[in-house]
Amino acid sequence: MITVATANRCARTFSYKDVKTCPIVAPFTPPCPPVLKLSAPVYNGRMMNYRVSVGMECHAELLTASKMFCSCANAFGGEPNTRTCPVCLGLPGTLPVFNAVAVELVVKTALALHCDISMRTIFHRKNYFYPDLPKGYQVSQYGDTPIGTNGYVDIEKADGTTKRIRITRVHLEEDTGKSIHSDGLGYSVMDYNRAGVPLMEIVTDFPPDVESAEEARLYAETLRGILLYVGASDGRMEQGSLRVEPNPSVRKEGTEAFGVKTELKNLNSFRAVQLGIEYEAKRQIAQIEAGETVLQATYGWDAEKGVTVLQRVKETEQEYRYFPEPDLIPIEFAPEYIETMRASLPELALDKKNRFVSEYALPVADAATLVSDKATADFYERAVSAGGDPKAVANWILGELTRLASGAKIAIAGGKVSPETLAELTRTVADGTITTTIAKRVLEEMWTTGETATAVIDRLGLRVAGADAVAEMVAAVVAAHPDIVAKIKGGNEKVIAFLKGQVMKEAKGQARPDDIDRLLKDAIDKA
Ligand SMILES: [Zn+2]
Repeated sequence: MITVATANRCARTFSYKDVKTCPIVAPFTPPCPPVLKLSAPVYNGRMMNYRVSVGMECHAELLTASKMFCSCANAFGGEPNTRTCPVCLGLPGTLPVFNAVAVELVVKTALALHCDISMRTIFHRKNYFYPDLPKGYQVSQYGDTPIGTNGYVDIEKADGTTKRIRITRVHLEEDTGKSIHSDGLGYSVMDYNRAGVPLMEIVTDFPPDVESAEEARLYAETLRGILLYVGASDGRMEQGSLRVEPNPSVRKEGTEAFGVKTELKNLNSFRAVQLGIEYEAKRQIAQIEAGETVLQATYGWDAEKGVTVLQRVKETEQEYRYFPEPDLIPIEFAPEYIETMRASLPELALDKKNRFVSEYALPVADAATLVSDKATADFYERAVSAGGDPKAVANWILGELTRLASGAKIAIAGGKVSPETLAELTRTVADGTITTTIAKRVLEEMWTTGETATAVIDRLGLRVAGADAVAEMVAAVVAAHPDIVAKIKGGNEKVIAFLKGQVMKEAKGQARPDDIDRLLKDAIDKA
């Protein structure tokens, strides 16, 4: 076994079993400065007199059945190196074949992001040496003709204003393998299941429109929503199928020139996106204030320590030696193809939210929460079209159903309560068959058993007691407490609550409070 050092600053080593020749080792090893201690005065929440700019690069693995250029399955996880073949391992003599669905998903996403589509697009080789890249190059798109250009995403800020974030390019490339660093081994090993998985890159325009960590998070959230609506990606940041890589830089207020940007990686959640950028901006400011130079480099976010850690100094574009991929022909789109893709786009979250507000008279916040997940939004609309009251259905979904689903760690749409049975539940409350309190219990049963609301109500005998039955209970309670009745008659109205409680107890919650009030008043008057 020969063990070689790589360009990785952590001096991790990769083992090449039975390799007789020595792989070329990248010559650069970046310095490892200690993590900067940040003193409070450097950052007071408003970045002192510095402005922050954040370019956003996002990679999304596409939801295809197979990889980009071969028929290996595209799926997360699995036994290492079981989903590989000579093509995605880059063995000599193999040739790539396009995955048409991957191209389709990028076109759809580009259209949803309001991009222009390059009617003729080509692919390039991005050359670099790293063990996760078995071919020694990544097939990507370089230059002026990525599939999508000049698009935008509108983000909604906390103060209710909207900001447009321009997108410069949306392109298609392939994913790399994964290095697995195990401390126990003393060296790193490779899993190529991910190598060749179709990957879409979405890059924001320059100069950056994103000017704070919060805007970066909102952009990432909005973009993820669009990807999910289009069905292009499952957007799982924790599994790495959506990777948000911000490029923050800082510059002194009043300065025209942008500062040196760094690239952030390992941001596995929206929270990490915001915290990582905040920290990195502070770190850059601290460096500038200390008279040091910000290095154009890649930093990883350490969520546990809450700091960014230098990973490697960035290559320049020249170092990648891009050239057109000779094994792939250019793609030329027919105008009809683009129009078919455009017509197939679903209604996107922002449009849906506005429609929910106008069509169902929902509060904006409720509509926004409902549309944040397409499956939940669809569930809502099915329940309404099955005869559920729009407001009541929204309340049940956002309240009890969300609670039950998060308790079971599943999606609302994945549970046993269907939109139709939820609609039925709201009708039983509206027509007075059960009270809202009882309805909560009925929903819990429905969630567990998958029964209809009526079936649960009948099985457990939960129908609200009729006025006659309540009148009987009231009469009995009044007869049993002549002292209380006397107090009420004497002017102490407050103790009526005690009698009401007794009736409610008798009715086991299945009596309408209005009925009890009315009948109690009558009975006391007559007593
Ligand atoms: Zn393969």
